[in-house]
Amino acid sequence: MRCVECGRQRKDSAERGWVTVLSPSAAQRIHYCCGCIENLVHRASTADQVDDYADDDG
Ligand SMILES: [Zn+2]
Repeated sequence: MRCVECGRQRKDSAERGWVTVLSPSAAQRIHYCCGCIENLVHRASTADQVDDYADDDG
């Protein structure tokens, strides 16, 4: 199991927070470590906020 974002490998099966997702394009499973999945979630919510601000300006 290896993080697709940072390339870090999960050596310890007890390590928590890893997320497995199905890649829409390749139809294969990819993995994110706990740190990278947090970044992804943060990025997604930040992008939503940016959209809201753009609407307010408009
Ligand atoms: Zn990672």
